Amino acid sequence: MKYFIIFGPPGAGKGTQSSLLIERYSLRHVSTGQLLREEIAKGTEVGRVAKELIDQGKFVDDNIVLDIIDNQICNYDSSIKGFIFDGFPRTITQAEALDKMLLKFNKTGVTAVLSLEVDDNVIVERIRKRAEIEGRKDDSSIETIVNRIKTYHAKTEPLISYYKERGRYHRIQGDLPVDEIFNNICSIIESL
Ligand code: AMP
Repeated sequence: MKYFIIFGPPGAGKGTQSSLLIERYSLRHVSTGQLLREEIAKGTEVGRVAKELIDQGKFVDDNIVLDIIDNQICNYDSSIKGFIFDGFPRTITQAEALDKMLLKFNKTGVTAVLSLEVDDNVIVERIRKRAEIEGRKDDSSIETIVNRIKTYHAKTEPLISYYKERGRYHRIQGDLPVDEIFNNICSIIESL
């Protein structure tokens, strides 16, 4: 089993690249944001708690997110060759918990972190475009977008050092055409 993380700020193109990667490498896409939005749509207790935070551009509690991940990696179809985590981990606590969970399955932990590097001004533009297409509430106000970018720098960026120290970090230029980015990611995966 391979365990990839598609990493980067909100609006970096993680979802787009994940869709292409799951097809090419028979992976399961695990987007915590998407799974939380499904909980909201179903009207569950988890969804109710998550909605308050997501709408303000804040993180959902680590324990809620970790329960979702545990459930995903323990129950899967044997036809898949691995996972691609999208929007997870977002904190050092989540990264450490993921390492512990993966120890149950393999000794090497995360296979590779595929990091899409994009400037903040490009991100704001992209999220505003996505708002028109997907209608996500957390994409609709500039305050919420700026909040999410700030939270990314404060809480998620430290993961770059975490994975560099463990030799798992691979940087990818994220402001190129979608197919070029995809080819660059595939070259990294095939070189592993
Ligand atoms: P995303 O679809 O990845 O942009 O996630 C949308 C929102 O869901 C985020 O802005 C957070 O509020 C919440 N969320 C998603 N994944 C996580 C996570 N790993 N940790 C905390 N909150 C998360």
